[in-house]
Amino acid sequence: MKNVIVTGASRGIGRAIAIYLAGKGYRVAVNYANNEEVAKEVLRKIRACGGEGEIYRADVSSYEDVAKMVREFYEAYGPIYGLVANAGIYIRKNIREMSIEDWKRTIQVNLDGAFHLVKASLSYLEKKASIVFISSQLAFRGSPSSVAYSASKAGTLGLMRSLALQLSPHVRVNAIAPGTIDTDMIANYNEEQRKRREEEIPLKRIGTPEEVAKVVAFLLSEDSSYITGATIDVNGGFYIR
Ligand code: NAP
Repeated sequence: MKNVIVTGASRGIGRAIAIYLAGKGYRVAVNYANNEEVAKEVLRKIRACGGEGEIYRADVSSYEDVAKMVREFYEAYGPIYGLVANAGIYIRKNIREMSIEDWKRTIQVNLDGAFHLVKASLSYLEKKASIVFISSQLAFRGSPSSVAYSASKAGTLGLMRSLALQLSPHVRVNAIAPGTIDTDMIANYNEEQRKRREEEIPLKRIGTPEEVAKVVAFLLSEDSSYITGATIDVNGGFYIR
């Protein structure tokens, strides 16, 4: 059984990734930061379907937390095949509104967190492994209302490309850039904002977490054996580049 760590797996996209991967036969480390009850719920769902996993609390902005999680998962279950750097926060503020603390926190969770996961896992990876970063369309488009978030997500892609070069030929490293996906992260959209967004998307709807999870599974699997250093858009055509 292949071992995979999914950060931010208690809710939203990470939750869907963890459940989908468990259904595909991976043993999943379900990481969370605060919501232990919902993380336990994810684990219950995985086990109810005959899958395997374990929950691990770790704030990805802390290297010590991440290193502890990775070490414990390795010591319990052996070498790690896959990493999914998904945990993220979105602080909706432009540069005038954004405090230095908001900026730092966003970079620490979204960018440092992805780096910490790979750095802490390197000596525990299987010889052949696969890493997936969850970036965002805002890495390409920029955003007038979220200066730190788009910077952190563009940084993630820079990290992904460098790691794809450095860790080849044994480890493949790729990213997914989701568009608008139906999770708590967009829970502040009112009915009118939601409708407007749906209108703007060529496929005329907001995406589901499962639609991202399926692409993660593809990037982890042998089906993507000749893909590394790539970013796959899962955005309903919202931004075609
Ligand atoms: P979400 O529903 O808000 O869930 C965020 C997840 O990240 C939760 O499991 C949360 O854990 C975890 N998390 C937050 N801070 C953490 C930390 N410091 N350490 C460890 N885990 C932490 O968000 P989502 O929409 O699923 O987003 C998942 C990823 O997709 C993020 O990287 C986001 O930027 C990206 N993305 C989302 C969208 C979208 O439209 N939803 C679009 C593009 C990209 P707790 O439950 O413990 O707080």
